[in-house]
Amino acid sequence: MREVAEALRAELGAGAVTAGDGLPARYLIDWSGLPPGRAGLLVRPASTEEVAKVLAACHRLGQPVVPQGGMTGISGGGRPGGEVVLSLERLRGIEEIDPVGATMQVWAGTPLEEAQNAAEAAGFLLPLDLGARGSCLIGGNVATNAGGNRVIRHGMSRAMVLGLEAVLADGTVITSLNRLLKNNAGYDLKQLFIGSEGTLGVVTRAVLRLEPKPLTHTAAFLGLPSFAAVVETLTTLRSALGPSLTAFEAMWRPYGDAVVEAGVALPVEGRHPFYVLVEQQGIDPERDPERLEAALGGLMERGLVLDGALARSLADVRAFWRVRDAVAEFPRLYGALHAFDVGLPVRHMEAYTEAVTKGLRALLGDDAILLWFGHLGDGNLHLNVGYRDGRPLPHEAVDDRVYAPLGAIGGTVTAEHGVGTMKRDHLGATRSEAEIDLMRRLKAMLDPKGILNPGKVLPS
Ligand code: FAD
Ligand code: ZN
Repeated sequence: MREVAEALRAELGAGAVTAGDGLPARYLIDWSGLPPGRAGLLVRPASTEEVAKVLAACHRLGQPVVPQGGMTGISGGGRPGGEVVLSLERLRGIEEIDPVGATMQVWAGTPLEEAQNAAEAAGFLLPLDLGARGSCLIGGNVATNAGGNRVIRHGMSRAMVLGLEAVLADGTVITSLNRLLKNNAGYDLKQLFIGSEGTLGVVTRAVLRLEPKPLTHTAAFLGLPSFAAVVETLTTLRSALGPSLTAFEAMWRPYGDAVVEAGVALPVEGRHPFYVLVEQQGIDPERDPERLEAALGGLMERGLVLDGALARSLADVRAFWRVRDAVAEFPRLYGALHAFDVGLPVRHMEAYTEAVTKGLRALLGDDAILLWFGHLGDGNLHLNVGYRDGRPLPHEAVDDRVYAPLGAIGGTVTAEHGVGTMKRDHLGATRSEAEIDLMRRLKAMLDPKGILNPGKVLPS
């Protein structure tokens, strides 16, 4: 590591390189619940050229590197195990907003919220949104293909990335900052880096597609009697609201109870078996709220919605979202919970969640915390598991019960958080051997010495 430190200091100057001992926790720990990792060195380049110099030197010396964004990941992807930590945080800022092309060129180290605000100030919407918006960085969002709250309308990060700049393991810079909506000139190289969690290249810049700013923004928070009612509500609202339905978030009753315990008020009276947060963003200030209200009225008449609160202001919309964002408060109440982000067709969800809940209760006992919630409209459910007193979980057995049924029903072990180390050895539950073999071949071609984020994504 001394040779590596000297090489990096010679390339970047002493100020950009810090010894690994005594680093602040934010470079060692993400939101996976794993204990703090260990860094050999921290290097903080301030330009693409510097990132290229770091990687070229590490490649030459066979030195493994872990790229890091805001460390809000939930899969252990940015957690170091003694490698060089390459933080992108100094590559920060908005390079350009093109109001005619409706695109934005951003450095990888820009916090998502900063990019959202810049888009808004220019009269646009950057539709990517997630609870970690204040601390996750655009490069991390791209590297994890982050999903978030508005996927049902706008798709995942991949759908917003038009162009990318990335640095390969050997320091080669691939500048592919396409701004066109349509470009079929050969392979779409940016896709190699989107969602590959820092194992195939380091993202330094991105061109993002912006959407017109919506003219209406409202929401409803609902209490429902059954899972069947949740599904009927989804299908009814999808056809009644069309593209103005921007989020459909479901929460099971224990999640609602935990939110109340975290000190956040539920917008409906009493407790219900299920809650749903519906968000609508449209362009017709007259008709949009009417459509939502009429559709909800019909659902209430049919007994599918038991209680509902309709937002009367943006402050109400924000208050409703606080219920969904309260998940960030749970570690304060329960310590680190073991978090899942499975994906599966909605038609299998009721049987799946009931079977997994039964299996986990049998394994863990009645005092285990099992919180189901998630982006139901996207076929993506979260499950947080733990004990109130913080005693350790039998992780392997819990993982097996959650992942084993997914293959047969067309599910995925990770819908949005990525594989990291947490799901690496479960990839085979929902990916075929041929798929994993092709992933390995791509990795070997792009990173022949295996220095980029080793031990992540691909099964050991
Ligand atoms: P990091 O955690 O720093 O890194 C994540 C991975 O990307 C690592 O493997 C790292 O090596 C790699 N990486 C980071 N930057 C780069 C780069 N520039 N080039 C190459 N590789 C890189 N995620 C969702 O998808 N949807 C949600 O709704 C959601 N909600 C969340 C809510 C909360 C409260 C929290 C804490 C997290 C949530 N997440 C969610 C997870 C997380 O915020 C996202 O995965 C986010 O995209 C990670 O960004 P980051 O900058 O923090 O990346
Ligand atoms: Zn999520």
